[in-house]
Amino acid sequence: MSMTVRWEDLLPREFEQRLAQLPLVYLPMGLCEPHGHVAAFGLDTHKAVYLCEESARRFGGIVAPTQTYHVHETGYHRPWLEEVMGDVNPRMASVPPDVVLKMLVFQLRAFVNAGFRAIVVLTGHNANQPDLRLVAEELRRNRPVPIVAVSDPELVAGQFEGDHAGKYEISQLLYLRPELVALDRLDDRHNTELRRFAQGDDAGEATEAEGRAIIEASLDAIKTMLADCQPLPDAGDVPFMTMDEAEEIWQRVAARADEWCTLRE
Ligand SMILES: [Zn+2]
Repeated sequence: MSMTVRWEDLLPREFEQRLAQLPLVYLPMGLCEPHGHVAAFGLDTHKAVYLCEESARRFGGIVAPTQTYHVHETGYHRPWLEEVMGDVNPRMASVPPDVVLKMLVFQLRAFVNAGFRAIVVLTGHNANQPDLRLVAEELRRNRPVPIVAVSDPELVAGQFEGDHAGKYEISQLLYLRPELVALDRLDDRHNTELRRFAQGDDAGEATEAEGRAIIEASLDAIKTMLADCQPLPDAGDVPFMTMDEAEEIWQRVAARADEWCTLRE
């Protein structure tokens, strides 16, 4: 029997057992957005889910339901999208930052109330994580629960260079979900009305071996990161958080909207 690490797949007895072993929860975050002609829209989601599930299998913890809608089309995302898509429909599942950040406040509240005493938020959609960290910072003012919010390229910074639908990302998907990659479609960018479709110039250099190296380096980095994201010694005493208290935390996050990177041009 394979090891069940997903919250939605656990029965109460096994949930309690895993929680008692290590009260750590992972929140995978991704998005459907264009990743060239060669890769599925959900690339960001798939890599976040895999890294969270594999980390939970190797190092303990439980994986929360995936957050599959994410911030796009606002701030710096808008000109980027225009550059890589032109006027082609990106077929994208974006939501604005206040929706994601308020959702995150209440997701963190749910984790604390469910008994988790350390939280890893892992986003496959890169560049929004400073805002996720701002939410974590505000929540920690109310509850002393360690929270790490990180994107996958940050995990391997200095070893591999993250990109969008280029050698880095396509290699990751080739390793994790080869059936979702069609490298023989590289030239569709020149031959179809969809044009570039946000495809990276070096997507054709992607290999499964490179993907495996990136993913394993990411898991090593998560292992190191977890050393600083462990339940505190007095973690048992964290009180229940009401909806009203979470709303107050959200109001503090909202009051700092001038700091949100996702609104910046
Ligand atoms: Zn991506």
